[in-house]
Amino acid sequence: MDLALSPQDEAFRGEVRRFLDDNLSDDLREAGRKTGGVFADIAAGLRWHKVLAGRGWSAPTWPREYGGTGWSATQRYLFSRECAAVDAPRIFSMGIRMVGPVIMKYGTPEQQAKYLPAIVSGDIVFCQGYSEPGSGSDLASLKTRAVRDGDDYVINGTKIWTTGAHVADHMFCLVRTATEGKPQDGISFVLIDSMKSPGLSVAPIVTLAGDHEVNQVFFDNVRTPIANRIGPENAGWTVAKYLLEFERGGDAYTPNLYARIEDIRRIALEEAADGSGRLLAERGFAQRLAEAEMEVQALEMIEMQVLSDLSRGRNPGAVSSAMTRCTPAGMRPLLRRSSMIPELTTTWPSGGITSTQPSRVFSCKPRAVARGNAVTRLMSVCASAHT
Ligand SMILES: Cc1cc2nc3c(=O)[nH]c(=O)nc-3n(C[C@H](O)[C@H](O)[C@H](O)COP(=O)(O)OP(=O)(O)OC[C@H]3O[C@@H](n4cnc5c(N)ncnc54)[C@H](O)[C@@H]3O)c2cc1C
Repeated sequence: MDLALSPQDEAFRGEVRRFLDDNLSDDLREAGRKTGGVFADIAAGLRWHKVLAGRGWSAPTWPREYGGTGWSATQRYLFSRECAAVDAPRIFSMGIRMVGPVIMKYGTPEQQAKYLPAIVSGDIVFCQGYSEPGSGSDLASLKTRAVRDGDDYVINGTKIWTTGAHVADHMFCLVRTATEGKPQDGISFVLIDSMKSPGLSVAPIVTLAGDHEVNQVFFDNVRTPIANRIGPENAGWTVAKYLLEFERGGDAYTPNLYARIEDIRRIALEEAADGSGRLLAERGFAQRLAEAEMEVQALEMIEMQVLSDLSRGRNPGAVSSAMTRCTPAGMRPLLRRSSMIPELTTTWPSGGITSTQPSRVFSCKPRAVARGNAVTRLMSVCASAHT
């Protein structure tokens, strides 16, 4: 495989660097650096989205006809890498990354015209209403019910772990429209145009670190037009699965992991080891750092394959699920195995937290930072390396 950059790609990289120099303000960088969960501080992410939209760069994976950049896989990757290197905040991109591609594939021309430009510009912000209490991994068991009434569906039920429901103005949502037959065959995919719809309420779920990122959403006779359904009635399972391919596969995660590994290397270069010398010079530490870097390199290859598929108009398919290794849940075993930081397993506030709630574990980062000692600083860097 030839990994050398062409002169055009080099020029593109220079253009991106200049744009970031000119447009990424210190406070946005700070927000990017402090990312504790999957996304940066949502408000900062939304501001950065607008800046990118102003340059036509808010939808790197979208085709040009829908307002995307039309970039090649290499350009997308370079863009992600340059953004990560300077701590650009990760935008709150459930519109760009998830529902946008779904509307492109399954939406009517009217739906495409209504939603896609507003998603690109950042004028509307979506949240994802899939999970319910009791319906997480077993998503097909979901119970939130939508019943036809005239031109509307009337929705009752609840969604949980809804990231950003408190800042979003729209929701894409799986609802049960039939109860007979296989559970998968009675689900529809609908859009809700206002999080302030009568009967809809959002209750915050505050993490152990005090962060408010996820919520529970309640529906009490919430109406949404039948015209807001994406795809046929009771075909929502197919639409939902298509979306999940993009959840991990439409973006480049490894540039951020590389940037965090560089942070670890830089801090370990300054940090004293137990004996004499610097932490980075310690054989065990250096070896574990190299192992982490090799894992990221392997993920990078998968990611490039996904990006390359996308740029050739193919959807990412099952391989994108490998990108869950780039999430806190996925990278946690690596952290454990390498125990790069001895305190990680002992002082990490994992007591009472199950491995199914990784982001909540990792979102303890700000507290670790607040403690200020260099080793916990390093822990926090490890944590963000794995978001
Ligand atoms: C920070 C965060 C943000 C999130 N944001 C959103 C969001 O915006 N929108 C949204 O819809 N959801 C969101 N989620 C929900 C997330 O997608 C769910 O956590 C996920 O669907 C898993 O559901 P659960 O947590 O209920 O785990 P469960 O389904 O209860 O699973 C618990 C454990 O049991 C295992 N397990 C389950 N079933 C089986 C089986 N049959 N065989 C073997 N093992 C099994 C699972 O692998 C897991 O380890 C978010 C979650 C987190 C942590």
